[in-house]
Amino acid sequence: MRVVMKFGGTSVGSAEAIRQVAQIVAESRREHEVVLVVSAMNAPDLRTTDSLIAAAKAAAGGNGDATAQIVPKLLALHLRVAAELAPPAECAALEVELRAMLDYMSELSRSIAVLGELTPRALDLFSGLGERINARLIAAALRGVGLSAAAVDATGLIVTDDRYGMAAPLMAETREQTRAVLLPMLSAGQVAVVTGFIGATRSGVPTTLGRGGSDYSCSILGSVLDAHEVWFWKEVDGVLTANPKVVPEARTMAHLSYSEMGEMAYYGANVLHPKTVQPLVQRRIPIRIRNTFNPTHPGTIISADQGEGNAKAVTAIKDVSLITVGGPGMLGLTGVAARIFGAVARSGSNILLISQASSEQSVCLAVAKADAEAAVAALREELMRDFSAHDVEHIGVIDCTIVALVGSGMRGTPGIAGRTFGALGQAGINIIAIAQGSTENNISLIVAPSDSDEAVRVIHRSFADGSRSAVPA
Ligand code: ASP
Ligand code: MG
Repeated sequence: MRVVMKFGGTSVGSAEAIRQVAQIVAESRREHEVVLVVSAMNAPDLRTTDSLIAAAKAAAGGNGDATAQIVPKLLALHLRVAAELAPPAECAALEVELRAMLDYMSELSRSIAVLGELTPRALDLFSGLGERINARLIAAALRGVGLSAAAVDATGLIVTDDRYGMAAPLMAETREQTRAVLLPMLSAGQVAVVTGFIGATRSGVPTTLGRGGSDYSCSILGSVLDAHEVWFWKEVDGVLTANPKVVPEARTMAHLSYSEMGEMAYYGANVLHPKTVQPLVQRRIPIRIRNTFNPTHPGTIISADQGEGNAKAVTAIKDVSLITVGGPGMLGLTGVAARIFGAVARSGSNILLISQASSEQSVCLAVAKADAEAAVAALREELMRDFSAHDVEHIGVIDCTIVALVGSGMRGTPGIAGRTFGALGQAGINIIAIAQGSTENNISLIVAPSDSDEAVRVIHRSFADGSRSAVPA
C-alpha cells in the first residue's frame, strides 16, 4: 500500500526521537511505499519555527543580528543530532548545506533591519526554514539506517495562492507537480522526506500554510498521491473517549468516522482539524493517528465508515458565555432571530451553540467568553427599538461550559438523551440549556463552569457502564 505519514515537531525533537522515526519508517518500508512529511524540530530547549519567527520580527524592529544570533544554536542542534544518526561523510555534506541556508537568512535579516519592514512574504521565508533543514537531517538519518531516502522541498510540489502566512493549495496543479516529482522516486523504492508547512506560488515564491500547517501538507500530499492510508504520528496512542486529565478511565478509540472527528474537533478535543483533513475526507482516504513512542499500538483509524455503537466520546469547551435575549414580545416577532444572529456576526463573534424553545420567549446563544462583550454591545444596538417597545426586555450573560456527547450512531437510537440527563440529574448537576441538531451526531449541554469536569465524568461513566454502549468499560 502507499502510505503518506507525518511526524510532528516533538516526534522529531531529539536524536532518540528521530532514531525511533527511522525505525518506524524502516519497518513500514518493508511492506509499503512511504512518503514522509516532517515538521521543524521542537527540541526541549529550542522551538525552531518560533525562534525563526522571533528573529525575523526582531530584525524588523532594527536588530539585524537577531538571526545571526540564533544560527549557531540551530546549527549546533541539528548537527549534534546528525552526528548521532548519520555517518561522518553525510554529516559533513549536511553541514555545508545547512550553513549556506542559514547564512542566507542572516543576510536577509540584515536587509530587513535596514528596511525596517517585514512583509508577510519575507516572513514565510524565515518561518519555513526549520522544515527545510529538518527534512535534510531526517533524510540523512534514514540513509544512516540503510534506507534509500531523499529530502524534497514542498516548494516544488505544493502550488498555492499568494496569501502569505496562510496560503491555500491549488489542488489540480499540486497534483500534477507532486506526482511528477514523487511517483518516480516511489517507483525507484526511495523514501521521500518532504517538508511540511510550506509551498510556493505559481511563480515559485515560497509560502506557508499557516501555523501548525504540516498536518495540512500531509493531507494534501496524501490526497494528490491517492494514498491508501495517511498516518499522523503523534505523542498519544490515538483519539480518546474523553480528556484523560478529567476522566482517568478514558480510552483510545479504535475507530471514528470523519463526521465524528469533525464534531469532536469543534467541541474542543485535540484531534485533527476538519479543514486540515478535508483533502483526505473528500477522497475518502482513511486516516490513522498513531504514537511515535508506542509504535506497536494500532492507534485510531478515522474513515468514512460510520462504524457501530452510539455515544462515543465526551468533550467540553470551556470559557464560553451564554447570552440570553428574552422578552414577552418575542413570540411571533418575525425576523428577530435573523437580526440577533446578524448583530452577533457583525461583532465578529462566532456562535458555538443556539437554542430556542418553541414558546419563543427567549433565544440563547453561546460564544467564546472573549467575544461576549462585543456580541452583547452589538445586540443592544440592534435591539434598541425592541427594548423601547418592551418586546425585548433583557439580555443576560453567564459564564458556562459546553459539554458535548458525540457519536454518529446516536442517530435514531432512542434513550441516549434520557440516559444522559438522568445521569446528570442523579449527580445533582443542573443543565442550563440543551441543543441537538437534527443530524443527531451530538448532544450539547450547557452547564456551570464549576460543574463541567464532573458532568464530563458522569456522562462518560453512564455510557461506559451500559451494555448498549460504544464506550466499553
Ligand atoms: N513548524 C510549523 C509550526 O510550528 C508547522 C508545524 O509544525 O506543523 O507552525
Ligand atoms: Mg507542530
